[in-house]
Amino acid sequence: MSENYRSMWESLGLDLKAHDALLDVLGKGYRDIFLAQKNRPQGMRYFDFVMSEVHGLRIKELLDEKAAGRKVIGSFCVFVPEEIVRAADATLVGLCTGADFAIDEVEKYLPRNTCSLIKSAFGFKLGRVCPYIESSDMIVGENTCDGKKKSYEVLNSLVPNLYIMDLPQMKSAEGKALLKAEYHRFKEAVEKLTGITIDAARLKKGISIVNNKRKAIHRLMNLRKANPAPISGLDALLTNQVFFYDNPVRFTDSVNKICDEVEKRIEKKEGVFTESAPRILLSGCPMAVPNWKLPWIIETSGAVIVGEESCVGERGTRNLTDDSGKSTDDLMDAITDRYFKIDCAVFTPNTDRLKHIMEMAETYKVDGVIHYGLQFCQPYLMEAIPVEKALVSKNTSTLRIDTDYSMEDIGQLKTRVEAFIEMVKVK
Ligand code: SF4
Ligand code: SF4
Repeated sequence: MSENYRSMWESLGLDLKAHDALLDVLGKGYRDIFLAQKNRPQGMRYFDFVMSEVHGLRIKELLDEKAAGRKVIGSFCVFVPEEIVRAADATLVGLCTGADFAIDEVEKYLPRNTCSLIKSAFGFKLGRVCPYIESSDMIVGENTCDGKKKSYEVLNSLVPNLYIMDLPQMKSAEGKALLKAEYHRFKEAVEKLTGITIDAARLKKGISIVNNKRKAIHRLMNLRKANPAPISGLDALLTNQVFFYDNPVRFTDSVNKICDEVEKRIEKKEGVFTESAPRILLSGCPMAVPNWKLPWIIETSGAVIVGEESCVGERGTRNLTDDSGKSTDDLMDAITDRYFKIDCAVFTPNTDRLKHIMEMAETYKVDGVIHYGLQFCQPYLMEAIPVEKALVSKNTSTLRIDTDYSMEDIGQLKTRVEAFIEMVKVK
């Protein structure tokens, strides 16, 4: 950290000792995983800086915004429409769900067989180590999987400002009507929180800010089709993770700068891996900061990740929101249309996801797909089997991995991933 933020963390009620320990682990992990990579685009230095200040400068910025009367809203899911939050001059932040923390404490509130992502959200709250959750004026919990839905009943007793958003489970007309009604209810809640009436002009501004972020990410993902891969999967994942934290305009500029650099690399046929490195598509559960275990294993085993079919990846950023509507209602409809296309595994049936995985495997010219499922995540583990069958029927090698956030299975995972990569190479 470039400044001493201790008094700021103290004012947020953080447990400074536990927080120091977390930052030590995070810093070491980042150095070993990201800074150890060779030939990274220069533009990634901005993301190194963001990560070094993720609990420092970024939190100070949020607190400065709050002091100026703006609100901060925390969320756990890509179904929470950032456009509506931005339209009220508020800031949406993703809440930490990518590492184990205070597990003993968490298991007093949740069953042991709960997925790591949900446990992580509770661990960061119970351990008092997340400045984002403590800075949030509203925390949005969404009714997606059963684990999240039921855990929010418990979280409600731990935070004073939980807002529950209901979500459909089927892509039917009734499902869409429910989503639309919920987004209107959310808009009203944001208006009440901020004291700002969201009109069409404000919505258009919000849509533009968020679309620009997505366009920059689309540009980067498109460049990853090149061979040799001009940027590592780890660095691309990092940009997708920072998407949820950073100032959106600054983020957009920074990703576009990386794209300018990556375009030049492609012209010169310069890559971070050799042309013969197997190209892998990672598909499955979202990977929030600092969940880098599996991508790190893959990319230190000689393969390169060229796409993420994930909510921290293309599933989350795939579509833009149409901003051509004239009225607030038109624009709210456009927001509903955009989010209704997200093919999260909580939907049934969820054929679009399978279609997207197949499309991505083809577009990114992958040699294999690694499906990442978190232990106890019924929706994604259930879908992993038909996904594997469909890919194998098209002759695409697939490896199904079930894991959690612990480091205990690193050796075993590395052995399986290396064997898979060897098999893909021979093929
Ligand atoms: S996987 Fe589903 S529940 Fe999780 S962030 Fe994505 S859309 Fe939300
Ligand atoms: S990883 Fe699976 S079980 Fe965990 S919160 Fe997401 S959808 Fe639910």
